[in-house]
Amino acid sequence: MDIRIGNGYDVHAIAPGLPMWLGGVQIPSETGFVAHSDGDVAIHALCDALLGCLALGDIGHLFPDTSDEWKGVDSKLLLAKVVDLVRQQGYQVGNVDITIALQKPKLAPHIATMRSTLAPILGVTEDRVSVKATTTERLGFVGRCEGCEVWASALILRPLEP
Ligand code: MG
Repeated sequence: MDIRIGNGYDVHAIAPGLPMWLGGVQIPSETGFVAHSDGDVAIHALCDALLGCLALGDIGHLFPDTSDEWKGVDSKLLLAKVVDLVRQQGYQVGNVDITIALQKPKLAPHIATMRSTLAPILGVTEDRVSVKATTTERLGFVGRCEGCEVWASALILRPLEP
């Protein structure tokens, strides 16, 4: 197999009265993410991990935040477009692993829904979609509830050409 890996990283600022989308799921919260799109920082990091596998740049390059086309866009659509690019080159997703750093609210009740939401978009079973969440023990901008930080890794594979 031809195997490739990539990593992605994203941060969004937190503000009151905005929706909080993470991993394709709306999290009940009095605060949300400042963004041009729906602000799903977990999907953005995941998109960058997949793009990184193929050295295709980043989502800011693909879906510029200066474009009205992507204003308020559901990030699941961006992820689907990125997965299309992966497939166009003959690859399939092997597995992904996402780590979300957020002080509050607690994400544990939403992890299973994130995994079951992302898996069909990625074209994999849920056991290939890992989502983990941590606080930063009140340290740094995450700990002060000023932002959310996400790291993602992705592995993609295709059969070797004969
Ligand atoms: Mg982003």
